[in-house]
Parts: sequence; C-alpha cells; structure tokens
Amino acid sequence: MPDEDRTAYQRLRAAHLSAVRAALDDHVARLDRPRAAIERHRTERLRALLGWARERSPFHAARMGEVDPATASVADLARLPVMTKAQAQEEWDAIVTIPGLDRAGAERVLAEQRWFSYTPQGHQVFSSGGSSGVRGVYVWDWEQYVTLACLAWRWQVRADRATGVDGPARLAVLSAGGPPHASTPLFDVATDASTQTVVIPAAAPFDDVVKAVADARPTALVGYASVIGRLARASLAGELDVRPLRVSTNSEPLTEEDRTAIGAAWGAPVHNLWGSTEIGVQAVGCGVGDGLHISDDEVILERVDADGRPVGPDEPAARTLATGLAGRTFPFVRYDLGDEVTLLPGTCPCGSAMPRVAAVAGRRDDDFRYGGLLVPASAFRYVLGTDPRISEYQVHQTPGGADVLVVGSPDLPAVTTALVEALRPYGLSDAAITVRTVDRIPRHASTGKLSRFKPL
Ligand SMILES: [Zn+2]
Repeated sequence: MPDEDRTAYQRLRAAHLSAVRAALDDHVARLDRPRAAIERHRTERLRALLGWARERSPFHAARMGEVDPATASVADLARLPVMTKAQAQEEWDAIVTIPGLDRAGAERVLAEQRWFSYTPQGHQVFSSGGSSGVRGVYVWDWEQYVTLACLAWRWQVRADRATGVDGPARLAVLSAGGPPHASTPLFDVATDASTQTVVIPAAAPFDDVVKAVADARPTALVGYASVIGRLARASLAGELDVRPLRVSTNSEPLTEEDRTAIGAAWGAPVHNLWGSTEIGVQAVGCGVGDGLHISDDEVILERVDADGRPVGPDEPAARTLATGLAGRTFPFVRYDLGDEVTLLPGTCPCGSAMPRVAAVAGRRDDDFRYGGLLVPASAFRYVLGTDPRISEYQVHQTPGGADVLVVGSPDLPAVTTALVEALRPYGLSDAAITVRTVDRIPRHASTGKLSRFKPL
C-alpha cells in the first residue's frame, strides 16, 4: 500500500483544509449580502478571469473578439462563443494558463499517482467519465479548491450557525472514495477543525456501506443522492440506526422519492448540490426553501437558446452555459453544461438574495427516444422510485421498451404493468418491458456513481 504517498498528501491536504476554514467566514457572509454587492463582486471577478485568460490562454485569447476584459460586464459574455466539452478536452494545451502544465503532464500525474496528489505548484488533477461518457481531465489550482470547497459547504455552515450549532461532530462521506474523481476531496471536508470525517466508497457492496455508516455514527451525511436515498430506505426498514442532523446530496439528481425517504427517515434538512468537475459547484440548496441557490458570486449561469443566445427567465432554454470565476488555471467561459435549469421566482424564506434554480432533474441524456417519441426518465422513476420494495434500479432502453434491473423484492408483474401504463401517455402504446431482480447493480468503476438510465 502506498502509505508514504498518502501521508505526504495528507500533510498538504491538512494545510489546504485550514485554508478552506479560514475562507469560510467570508463565503458564509456573502450569502446574506445585498444583491448589488454580489453583482459588483462578480463583475470584478469576471474581469479578472477574462483578463487573465486573454493573456495566458491562447484558446480564450482567440475567442475574446472585441470584448475588453477591463470593462466587460456579465451581459458581454453573450458576445463570446460557447465552449463545448469536446473543445475543452481536445484543446487542453491551448486552454491551460500555467507554463509547464499540459495534457500529457496531467495524464502522467493521473497514471503515476498512487493516491490523490498535489503537483509541485499545488494543483490537483482529476478525471471523470461524466454522464456523456466522454472522459475528461481537469486541473484545480490551490485557491480554486479553497473557493469550491467553500461553495460546497457554506450553506450548511450558515444553517448550523443560525441554530447555534458548531460544525458536525462526525461526517460520513459517501463518494468515489479514491482518485481520480474529485468527489472525495470536495466533500470530505471538516468545516470545523473538530469534525471527524469518514470516507465510505459508494460503490462498495451495499451491506458493507450500511455497516460502515452504522459504525461511523454520523451526525451529518454527505454523498451521492442515490446512495443517501437508499440509506434512508434502509433506515426506514429498520436495517440502519443512525440520526444525521444534516444531509447533503450531490453528483446525481436527487429524486423526489429519495428526498421523501430522507425526510421520513431522519427529518433532517437536505442540502442538494448541483456541480461538475469543470465548474465546481453551480448551486446548493439552503435546507430551508425550495430549489438550489446559484453560486452567483463565483459562477455565472446563462440560460440560452439553441444558438447560444440568452433567453428571459420565463422562457424555455435549450441549454445552460456556465462561467467558473474561480477557475483561473483552466478557464471555463460559457461552457455548455448539458443540463437544463429553470429559475425560481421570488425570494427564498432563508433570506439570501442568491437566486435559485429548481432542482436539476437530470440531464436530457437520460431521456429515451423511440423514433419520434420522447419518454422522459421521470416516467420510469415515478414507478420504480416509489416502490418501497425496490431499493435500487437501472433502466436499459430496448428498441420497443426497456429492460429493467431492480434490487429488492417487488411484485414483478405489477411493476411491469405499471411501467407499461406509465409509458402510454408518451405515445408508446404497448411498450415491451421486462423487469428482473438482481443482487446488485454495478456502479461506475472509478466514480462509484450509479447510472440509472442507459439509452440505446
Ligand atoms: Zn434559501
């Protein structure tokens, strides 16, 4: 085992977490600043990012056109082209802004590191399959990680402080559990120096996950939404006795069924997070109001039409573009996230002026197309996610319907009939559905994420 690698990493990591805790007060305070102060802040952050990118990134310099970073506003972003996932990976060496760091070097870090690691300059290199299946390589610099960790955790800290509580005593972290995925460093964060954290790989056999969570006696839980939902169901079934006071979900869509199970099992506030390895943390739930608050001081989201033009808050958008203001080493400007979001009107009862989006239901990649017919993933979720005897499922599209794997002991003929009925309104009059029980559904080998929907 690479014990010395881990020890070297842990020493720098401890320093990094101290930097996160030092920055948290400012990030928490921003949540209650007036709208105008947030806008001033992010305009200057945008100018700083664009100015740096134009000088140090040939890729971005060539796309900057007539936009002057020194005077740019958020509205000026619409004058820049959209940045795609393919471009980000194919033009890596022209995008990165740090001398001596290129794609080949980043790949070497991934290949040679035996545990998470920092480069001599304090960068961390991550990789992710992503929901689109395209492998991506990403680099986060030291300050960027500090900001992203604050974005991921400041709502929980604010809520704890509002109720006069210190940070959690014991935090259980259900994530990939190891490199190269960024989930473990981002979520295994002791926001209070006295917080103990336990990392539990989400892809481990579920019985082992339950035992590890029980042994950890967590006062707070953070992790992949599907795993936390399944733990809540295990709690309701009497198979797990833990009492988390706060629950944070991430990396996968949080289904209404999982949210309901978490509420029924523990009655704890839920902070759902919408993020990406590219941008970091786009939005986080405050645990009070509906939806998720956009990280509006550090991320600029644009809802745009098919041609990349911004649309009004009430108009439907084809896609969401994100500009990550903390990402100086590898700037993402007008990056196509592939998610669709809806803005929520009004002010949140929590009092923050940070705007909100509705829960992100999942990528449109999850929807199934049958010829000209479109069946949303929610049609399957509604049946499979509400059956108390199904603890996990995966839907494989077939030419005329779907092959469904379930873990648990449901009434298979009844589930099959319910699915056929659920698809009928979308034009599939007699879908060919098969439902089979399996012992376990394999998770993604390196990230530990569960892919619930497999289109043809
Ligand atoms: Zn709120």
